[in-house]
Amino acid sequence: MPVYFAPGRVNLIGEHTDYNGGFVFPCALDFGTRLTVTPNGGRTLRFRSENMPGQVELPIDSPFKPLPDRSWVNYPLGCIAQLAEQAGGLDTGYDLLFDGNVPLGAGLSSSASIEVVTAYAFNDLLQLRLDRKRLALIAQQAEHTYAGVNCGIMDQFVSACGRQDNAVFLNCDTLQFDYVPLRLDNVSIVLTNSHSPHRLDAGTYNRRVSECREAVRAISRVRHIRQLANLSVSDFNDLQSAITDEVILRRARHVVTEIQRTRDAVTALKDNDLALFGQLMNRSHQSLRDDYEVTGIELDTLAETAWNVPGVIGSRMTGGGFGGCTVSLVRNEAVDLFRQTVATAYRQVTGLQAEFYIARTGDGAGMLS
Ligand code: ADP
Ligand code: MG
Repeated sequence: MPVYFAPGRVNLIGEHTDYNGGFVFPCALDFGTRLTVTPNGGRTLRFRSENMPGQVELPIDSPFKPLPDRSWVNYPLGCIAQLAEQAGGLDTGYDLLFDGNVPLGAGLSSSASIEVVTAYAFNDLLQLRLDRKRLALIAQQAEHTYAGVNCGIMDQFVSACGRQDNAVFLNCDTLQFDYVPLRLDNVSIVLTNSHSPHRLDAGTYNRRVSECREAVRAISRVRHIRQLANLSVSDFNDLQSAITDEVILRRARHVVTEIQRTRDAVTALKDNDLALFGQLMNRSHQSLRDDYEVTGIELDTLAETAWNVPGVIGSRMTGGGFGGCTVSLVRNEAVDLFRQTVATAYRQVTGLQAEFYIARTGDGAGMLS
């Protein structure tokens, strides 16, 4: 029985830039989703997950289409539909069992990990020999057409192409990328799960995507651009008066400045200037809070409390926002103080219990056995 694995990810900086053609800087985690898949000799796909109740069974002989009610099966099904089409159909049914240890909906991309593990497995089972970039694009397409989220490419790309001890500096327009070693001597990457009941739903995410498109249209009235990543910060300063809607202006300002912060952060890391890297993380959070408006009281309390703890190098929300996690760089000797201080403040402000993980990086998708 083949077993496959694809990781979740944490984005260190470069948030909501991917669908604008900008830079991101995520790393793959050592936790993710496992898929055990066996041909069943029948004419159905049987989906089960250790993380969800019940079983879903679908015939392989009628065309695949998205299931109603936001079924979790849409994420893997959207990948299988594309790969089966490339293979000219499936010769047999399969039993699929998923088992994930990425917290679902916490901004660490359980969705990309379930998509990418499925794409990776069926590429192998159907002997399609597609490369990892292609698999990431298939997984992204599944999220668009089957899950209804118009996401960028970051999550699927790093789940497919990540490398242990490295972050991926990815240009989301060209898909050119560099591995940048994470030399974090005596510093931990700490993830704090807000366990906030607020979720980044597909509607809100898609609204931000449309707001960015609206900004592109407004700027294009004075200078043609394809996407916000075509603007440098100084271009933006020169042209911003073309955007008359104050909300759209702020959305665009976040994206343009975040792309620059991401470049600067990668340079800082390569120069071993972690202090600057941390400041850029903090500024990223402020921009996501004030201009992009995707934080909320939970993520703000976590990040802003962290900023004042000695030994914290930087802290920001990570992932799409609202609920989910923050990512913080914390000196090892300060991790206990960080946890205590943040947990206490968080409980006082929100009544919620924060959960902490020390992130370890991992490799992109692969076969386990
Ligand atoms: P995130 O990607 O940040 O974890 P999303 O809302 O994008 O949050 O994706 C979470 C959804 O992905 C879950 O609600 C579920 O539908 C699906 N999912 C992810 N992992 C699994 C899994 N192991 N088993 C079943 N469904 C999963
Ligand atoms: Mg997701």
